[in-house]
Amino acid sequence: MKYLLLFISLIYAIPSNAQNKGVTLLILGTVQDGGSPHIGCQKECCAVLFDEPDPSRKVVSLGVIDHENQRTYIFDASPDFTTQLKMVQEYTLPERKAPDGIFLTHAHIGHYTGLMYLGREALGGKDVPVYAMPKMKLFLEKNGPWDQLVNLKNIELIEMTTDEKMQLTPNLTVIPFLVPHRGEYAETVGFKIIGSKKSALFIPDIDKWYLWEKSIVEELKKVDFAFLDATFFDANEVNHRDVSEIPHPFVIESLELFKDLPENEKSKIHFIHLNHTNPLLDLESKASMEVRSKGFQIAQFSGTFKL
Ligand SMILES: [Zn+2]
Ligand SMILES: [Zn+2]
Ligand SMILES: [Zn+2]
Repeated sequence: MKYLLLFISLIYAIPSNAQNKGVTLLILGTVQDGGSPHIGCQKECCAVLFDEPDPSRKVVSLGVIDHENQRTYIFDASPDFTTQLKMVQEYTLPERKAPDGIFLTHAHIGHYTGLMYLGREALGGKDVPVYAMPKMKLFLEKNGPWDQLVNLKNIELIEMTTDEKMQLTPNLTVIPFLVPHRGEYAETVGFKIIGSKKSALFIPDIDKWYLWEKSIVEELKKVDFAFLDATFFDANEVNHRDVSEIPHPFVIESLELFKDLPENEKSKIHFIHLNHTNPLLDLESKASMEVRSKGFQIAQFSGTFKL
């Protein structure tokens, strides 16, 4: 009896999340770089949010947790990094303050500036591994305030090579790949994240699908989930400018491109990186209903996927 009680108390001492097996992908944010509410926005989309912020409106980021090996990774260090890191930590040992790796897609504010919280003014990180492409790595090494993170060894930069596999744990492999996207300071990549059973594509920013040397339709076939750039829904959000001239795949363009795919391919697509004006931020909007009725999905904050 004594042993039985000890056994039961031991089981309950383990946090429930730690009992998870395999690899989990966790949506840490779904909003475009500028967040929501958006600075200076006087439109209806943000009117209420300045007074009543919605805690589910976080800038785009993914967490990946290998439960078996107790390893955690974050894809893109967003301006909401503080709370996003906390979400990932819920899945790991409490004494672990930093993730085992941060993967960066590119040098636009929504995707890397969260690194600032690893510096001496905040966490004071110790050699936190940050995976970056060659130009991105150089950008961080040569420009303040980021160079201070490098010099003080708050972060340790690890250079990635496009299309090269990185085996992080026996259960988890990551492959970066170049995508076209305006690159003032650095190149832009997307990631393929391969777990022990399933895999996912993460492409939060890309100019247009047809400008990519790879075919998104072909790449989609090779994975189970795809989190894809859906910054703008249609021309309403950009003052009725010609959508073909704005360097993002508009949702209406993606719906057209993917319209003949079989249901099982369509359902892999989760639209993400939504501008504050994007009606897909509201699951009840007409646009959201249309997207979902056509068999596609809209990425939801704190949603989880088994890889
Ligand atoms: Zn972005
Ligand atoms: Zn707005
Ligand atoms: Zn960008």
